Amino acid sequence: MSIEKKPFGKLNDGSQVTLFTLSNVNGVEAAVMNYGATLVSLEVPDRHGKLADVALGFDTLEDYVERNSPYFGCIVGRVANRIAKGRFTLDGVEYRLAINNGPNHLHGGLKGFDKANWKGEFSNTTASSVKFTYVSRDGEEGYPGNLSVTVVYMLTDQNELQIEYTATTDKATPVNLTNHTYFNLAGSGDVLGYELMIAADQYVAVDDTLIPTGELKSVQGTPMDFTRAVPIGSRFSELDGEPKGYDHCYVLRHVSRKPSLAARVHDPLSGRTLEVYTTEPGVQLYTSNFLDGTIKGKGGRSYRQHSAFCLETQHFPDSVNKPQFPSAILRPGEVYSQRTTFRFSAK
Ligand code: BGC
Repeated sequence: MSIEKKPFGKLNDGSQVTLFTLSNVNGVEAAVMNYGATLVSLEVPDRHGKLADVALGFDTLEDYVERNSPYFGCIVGRVANRIAKGRFTLDGVEYRLAINNGPNHLHGGLKGFDKANWKGEFSNTTASSVKFTYVSRDGEEGYPGNLSVTVVYMLTDQNELQIEYTATTDKATPVNLTNHTYFNLAGSGDVLGYELMIAADQYVAVDDTLIPTGELKSVQGTPMDFTRAVPIGSRFSELDGEPKGYDHCYVLRHVSRKPSLAARVHDPLSGRTLEVYTTEPGVQLYTSNFLDGTIKGKGGRSYRQHSAFCLETQHFPDSVNKPQFPSAILRPGEVYSQRTTFRFSAK
């Protein structure tokens, strides 16, 4: 186990960005930076022990600042996913947020947590972990309350990357944090043949702007069913809407304070398997439908449609306008807490 830090560049305002590299006994390496509290790279072994970087992203800070419209690797907040028409009412007060995705608000607004320069430090010397903190001011991006957020990334010798989120506020506010890593378990190519299982019998039905209708629908007998592992791309042609692919929130079967298995993805070629465990009620499956090859990522590689998948553990989209969904409201005196573990193995 070791931890290392080195400068990753400077932002326009002169502030320094640091890249922290966590490594374990198996040679697994996770590099995270304080800009966006972003996972920059994640090297894990295949069935022959060969390492590959399974996270999409960029080689330079400048690219992250200027070209990260897909939200590669970052922490998304204050509210991940969509809020209908960028509006909500809380305790009788109406709040209006930026409209940055069709008619809706997405991923915290114009300058969400993904664009904040978090404070980063190694949290302790015994674990391979790094702690990021950020204070989102009252009124920032239209949200109420000063919100103090902590995100800890920890790499274990069991090849798990654990992400622990906590937050407190001085006024009631919605909070929904997630990590937006785009995974490609082979290190390149598309993800259509990966076998995916999601521990969910229902998904959140949405309208054509991807806002929940309020209904939770059964996956049974539909191309949404991943209760048993099937290749991710095998039923794209049966899905409604364009571009093809999944961009849906699944209602997880098991929710508890201890992270439960939410999904398992296996790449038959490299043998790498990713298991996702979480305390959250939902996971957004996004098959990088909007990547179109125009973004050049690490090593100058073009990132094409379906070249990655995201499993974004979170509360359901637009929860703040859907009283029937698990609440995403944090009040003064309470502690927001979410834990998600990405566990890698190979066979
Ligand atoms: C959303 C997609 C969006 C992507 C990048 C995902 O969480 O569900 O619709 O395109 O993030 O912003």
